[in-house]
Amino acid sequence: MQHRIYLDHNATAPLHLAALEAMQAALVELHGNPSSIHRDGQRARAAVEEARREVARALGASLTEVVFTSGASEANNLAVQTLHRALPPGRAIAASVVEHPSVLAPLRALEAQGRRVVWLDVDPLGRLPAPDALAARFAHEDVGAASLMLANNEIGACYDLAALAGALSGQGVWLHTDATQAIGRIPVSFGALGVHLLSLSGHKLGGPKGVGALIADPALTLAPLLLGGHQERGRRGGTENVPAIVGLGAAARVAIPEALAAAPHLAARRDRLWAGIQAAGLDACRQGDPAACLPNTLSVRFGGVDGETLLMNLDLAGISVSAGAACSAGSLEPSHVVLALGVPPEQARGAVRFSLGPRTTDAEIDATLDRLPAVVARSRIAS
Ligand code: PMP
Repeated sequence: MQHRIYLDHNATAPLHLAALEAMQAALVELHGNPSSIHRDGQRARAAVEEARREVARALGASLTEVVFTSGASEANNLAVQTLHRALPPGRAIAASVVEHPSVLAPLRALEAQGRRVVWLDVDPLGRLPAPDALAARFAHEDVGAASLMLANNEIGACYDLAALAGALSGQGVWLHTDATQAIGRIPVSFGALGVHLLSLSGHKLGGPKGVGALIADPALTLAPLLLGGHQERGRRGGTENVPAIVGLGAAARVAIPEALAAAPHLAARRDRLWAGIQAAGLDACRQGDPAACLPNTLSVRFGGVDGETLLMNLDLAGISVSAGAACSAGSLEPSHVVLALGVPPEQARGAVRFSLGPRTTDAEIDATLDRLPAVVARSRIAS
């Protein structure tokens, strides 16, 4: 079988061996319910609390701030509801138009119910206004809370939330950041960022799918989405997914530092991929700001190409990538992120995202560059 080249780590990353081993042990040995007071329950409880320590330590948070969820989508929904509940009716919540759908959709639902939402546009490179300008706008429009991602999943744009938190100090604005794509790619510390809520997902950083966390400043009272469970101090009901939480803990302890150490090599490979695409004269345009981009992400628009067709032809050539966001794959709508850059819809359809992982090799980049020209040619829309 042809060696497949996986360049879709922003959609999901392979499970790290340390997470796999920790989960196997948990599945075999930890059958108790962490809420049970007998010894079997207490062993499961101890494993959950150890994972909480590992997540807290990896992300510069304190233990009580970590709330386990089913993933970043749930953490984002929980964060948005919490911001809404924290504000009096007239004040606005701000968010960028390039947020993940799990931030956009709950905000739109609240907007339909009367909550004022201030939508922040990005410039053609995917950048937000400077922190001082944002802080002034927030004061002017009576913004009491904001949800802004630390890094964008599609174009890799990184946002300086620490600088924004600094510019907003004293202004009484609650800040949530979706750090799902940033963790393990750039250093992330909840304490150093100065935000009040931070979402993360296990499966983007070497942990399993179906688990994540919201890190929450105790000054904010969370608005639980699931009622009727006392788990997670009443902040997230439901029996804990012990093996998945244990896997997330192991990934936080082992995979995050490893991935951060690999980040400079990843950036070099990503840059080589882009240099090779340019050298091949494929009518390609890089999207996003190269000066503030995740080290593993390359978003490219190919002229006269339909991204879905290119994705399928790359797949046949043994290469996995995404066209726009994986979550919206299968829809014919161009990506909301690419459209937000001001790209016309017919050109936005030509966008493809390459996202590398710590184990991506130079040989895989070379093989991708070898196969790409023929695949792009085959994917050109007949005019
Ligand atoms: N936020 C961002 C920025 C993401 O990239 C994703 C995954 N596509 C999510 C949230 C949702 O994460 P999960 O799959 O854990 O629900």
